[in-house]
Amino acid sequence: MKEVYNEYKAEQFLRRYLPVARSQLVHDSTQVTLPLPLVLKIISDDALHKSEVHGVRVVKTQDDLEREFSDLIENAKKRKLKIDGILVQEYCWGTELIMGIKNDEVFGHVIVFGVGGIFTEILKDTSTRKCPITAHDADEMMEELKAKDILHGARGVKVNREFLKHALVAISKIPGHHPHIEELDINPFMADEEGGKVVDARIVFNTK
Ligand code: ADP
Ligand code: MG
Repeated sequence: MKEVYNEYKAEQFLRRYLPVARSQLVHDSTQVTLPLPLVLKIISDDALHKSEVHGVRVVKTQDDLEREFSDLIENAKKRKLKIDGILVQEYCWGTELIMGIKNDEVFGHVIVFGVGGIFTEILKDTSTRKCPITAHDADEMMEELKAKDILHGARGVKVNREFLKHALVAISKIPGHHPHIEELDINPFMADEEGGKVVDARIVFNTK
């Protein structure tokens, strides 16, 4: 049997290990207290890939917020998605990375790191190590990427490598505490000059 944590549950879980974007799970736009700009997301076990159901909206003004909020609720009703609520999340700027864990048949738990964002699937630019890793391993993982220059401040966007190293080491220790993790996907992790934050995650546990 498998138990899947949607973004809301996965981010609650990850707060113990990593910085996570500030958010609130709400049912009505009047409950929103976080400052604009914000990202609204449909939280439903029936729609784990939120963009595929047009379930992610960036809002810059109060008008946007009210309009997109009702549209998301309408959209969920139309698609007959059972929702836990709307996740209202701070808007984050930065470089989109992926960080994750897989339970490999041969190696056991491995950590995967790479370039995130819309081209993840096309670029397939990742590096992998057996868990847990050291800061030195994390450094090597960064250097192994074809797009490693992204992490050296190409495009004029700076990334805090020391912070990323610590984040990767922290993730690599999670299976030690939770051996039933089958899969952990953080996509994206939004990295910036100061550090970075998880802005989307999903976790699969093996419950058998
Ligand atoms: P999906 O379930 O489709 O993967 P995501 O939560 O990853 O949904 O959102 C899709 C994309 O929207 C992300 O890859 C990212 O580019 C952007 N995005 C999501 N949340 C934020 C945020 N808080 N700040 C900035 N961009 C975001
Ligand atoms: Mg995502």
